[in-house]
Amino acid sequence: KLVFVAVAAAFVAFQWRGPTLDPESLKGARVLVTGASTGIGEQIAYQLAGFGAQVVITARREKVLQQVVEKCQGLGAQKALYLAADMGNPSDPERVVKFAVDKLGGLDYLVLNHIGPSPFAMWDGDVEHTRWLMQVNFLSYVQMAKTALPVLEQSKGSIVVVSSLLGKMCSPFAAPYSSTKFALQGFFGTLQHELAMQNSNVSITICVLGLIDTDAAMEKVKGLTNIQASPANEAALHIITSGASRQTESYYPWSCYYISLIRDWFPSYRDYFIRNFYQYEH
Ligand code: NDP
Repeated sequence: KLVFVAVAAAFVAFQWRGPTLDPESLKGARVLVTGASTGIGEQIAYQLAGFGAQVVITARREKVLQQVVEKCQGLGAQKALYLAADMGNPSDPERVVKFAVDKLGGLDYLVLNHIGPSPFAMWDGDVEHTRWLMQVNFLSYVQMAKTALPVLEQSKGSIVVVSSLLGKMCSPFAAPYSSTKFALQGFFGTLQHELAMQNSNVSITICVLGLIDTDAAMEKVKGLTNIQASPANEAALHIITSGASRQTESYYPWSCYYISLIRDWFPSYRDYFIRNFYQYEH
């Protein structure tokens, strides 16, 4: 019994401590970050800039990207460039990766983070929105990974996929979004196995996030839940650290790890608690 308790305690302590970051490893690293005009992606760009990385950022709004690039330059990025693109357009994902590889002379990290706007509400039956969101939040990730893989193979690089607890378990108000995150888990989880079986140089990190205090997320959940949100800059550092240390999966905040561990133990209690996190009047 004692051995079991000691092993369990060591396991919990390890998970709590999480991976550590060697900032030197990111100096000059060539990184493409998607969805970097606002929110967590913007914070990832600033932190990478502070570590002296070379960054290409992308999103749709050119003016905002320009401002983020200027700030990255001020923070110490070796190089900071942007390309405006719409991931709802099936030719843009490949175009963005090719731009980054061309301008940076290769690629070390592909950070897939963007999401299209989607209502946080009861599903209204809009199939077209779900189809479009699949292109933006899922298929564009697959397209970018496909284009980047041969380049990352050469640089022993990494793909970092920003996902959500809603890609691991279901909750109300996010059917199209949650579907895209489950799809990411299925696709990139499978790719992790296949790359490992082929002794590939490329690592894939899937980052599972809980509620983060970005403007977009806070606006969506306003009045619907009192779940505590975690800071976006900490989430960004966690994502960078997990990718740089080539973790297969990472959780932020740490409580998400335990939630996803025990999610199938008592399904009816789980579902009762999930529904009670939200305020809804029928
Ligand atoms: P935001 O909504 O703040 O940012 C989304 C980014 O994606 C913006 O830069 C936006 O820029 C860009 N974007 C939107 N539509 C498109 C498009 N069609 N083509 C290209 N880019 C687009 O998101 P967060 O920072 O909150 O979330 C970032 C990641 O973290 C996401 O993967 C999300 O699922 C994950 N996550 C977030 C949580 C949270 O609570 N915030 C919780 C769990 C996971 P622009 O409008 O200029 O195109």
